[in-house]
Amino acid sequence: MPKAILKTDQTCPKDLSQEEQDLFWMKYAYSLAEKAGSQGEVPVGAVIVLAGKLIAEGWNQSIQSHDPTGHAEMMALKSAGQAVENYRLMDSTLYVTLEPCPMCASAMVHARVARVVYAAPDLKTGAAGSVFNLVANENLNHKLEIASGILQAECSAQLSNFFKSRRAHHKEIKRQLKSGLIDS
Ligand SMILES: [Zn+2]
Repeated sequence: MPKAILKTDQTCPKDLSQEEQDLFWMKYAYSLAEKAGSQGEVPVGAVIVLAGKLIAEGWNQSIQSHDPTGHAEMMALKSAGQAVENYRLMDSTLYVTLEPCPMCASAMVHARVARVVYAAPDLKTGAAGSVFNLVANENLNHKLEIASGILQAECSAQLSNFFKSRRAHHKEIKRQLKSGLIDS
């Protein structure tokens, strides 16, 4: 059995409906987003599930890794590939707290992920229906099933609270610079 499956060993309780399973995994993704936020990253978390089992997790780490591709989904996809020792992730579901961007949506198509479930829509760059639809595009040879809105209010609030506190922090630094409390 691939090592990462043993390592994570997170399984959804049995006998849950699809909707309840989606909620279970999205809560897990939310906790990963929280971790990203506590590290100063935009709070986005992602998990990949195969046959009811967690095979990979990821959270935003672009800033600390100096990596423009360090989105939660990309981290999870890379880790899932290692877990199943295959670059194709057939029959898997990717849960993410924010609608994927074009880069992540394309990576999911390359990986043949079967289903994407996201919480909050991204009205600026969302590529699973909001601005573009790259995960279920007629011109592409693989289409994902899309579900959205699971835990949406919580994940949207998590993001807007993060940006609110970051703006407040920047404002405070500006104020201190202006008043000479700190050196520029
Ligand atoms: Zn992305």
